[in-house]
Amino acid sequence: MFADLHLHTFFSDGTFSPEELATRAQTEGLNALALTDHDSIEGCARMEAACRERGIEFIPGAELTAEHRDREVHILGYWLDTTSPPLLSRLAGFQAVRSNRIRDMVHRLNERGIPLTAESVFAIANCQSPGRPHVARALVEGGFCRDYDEAFEKYLKKGRPGWVSKARMDVPTAIGIIHAAGGVAVLAHPGLYRADFIIPELAAAGLDGLECWHTKHFGGTSASYERMAGQLGLVATGGSDCHGMAKGEPLIGRIRLPYAQVIALKARRPLAQAA
Ligand code: AMP
Ligand code: FE
Ligand code: FE
Ligand code: ZN
Repeated sequence: MFADLHLHTFFSDGTFSPEELATRAQTEGLNALALTDHDSIEGCARMEAACRERGIEFIPGAELTAEHRDREVHILGYWLDTTSPPLLSRLAGFQAVRSNRIRDMVHRLNERGIPLTAESVFAIANCQSPGRPHVARALVEGGFCRDYDEAFEKYLKKGRPGWVSKARMDVPTAIGIIHAAGGVAVLAHPGLYRADFIIPELAAAGLDGLECWHTKHFGGTSASYERMAGQLGLVATGGSDCHGMAKGEPLIGRIRLPYAQVIALKARRPLAQAA
């Protein structure tokens, strides 16, 4: 039995519907899936139904944007109670910040002579968690950029003219919200931060797991994070971080996490004794 614990749909910056993602997972022979859209649980209800129809175990989740030592870090929450008031109010706050940020980014692009409208970005996003990938698509569809990569390179990367920072919570706050919603907290893609010294600091803030297997962890990276997880008392987890066709080819199926890791992670749930 295998799982993929890191997946995005079009409810954030992926391109697949929950149904398409579940169908592809079934084809890949995956038995358990977590949906982890950025700062959103909007797709969880549909994903749960899609998984149920296909005999796949579903884990409701989200990927929260947080910060530590001035770096953006992502905290994955699993088995979230999607009715938890602190979770819902935080997500609503973050989504409002994201929408205002889109308006700021569009304004900055307008100042550069690009007549993009915020409405066109929101129409493309069509979800509660709009972000830079939607601005990138609007730039391409409007004929202002050749492709998605050029949009990031020219306008949307940190430091480029259209870039606007995003309000972020600190890691203890993110972990607290996840635990209060009955979930477990995992540090996403540690290899992308290029700052391994922060991992023990974040573990001490109450993490339950470390995403050791990820499609951007190459060579011996996964094995070294697996060792680190053991040393820090964290469950070693993994996921593809599939964004559908957003990044060329779909990544679902590339990471096949042994189901034993799902069981170990589940045992860390604050309400595990009741489940
Ligand atoms: P945001 O949360 O709005 O800042 O957008 C971040 C998302 O943009 C990430 O989750 C990726 O999906 C995507 N992204 C970030 N940097 C790049 C890049 N250089 N090229 C393509 N996509 C990117
Ligand atoms: Fe993303
Ligand atoms: Fe991430
Ligand atoms: Zn992700």
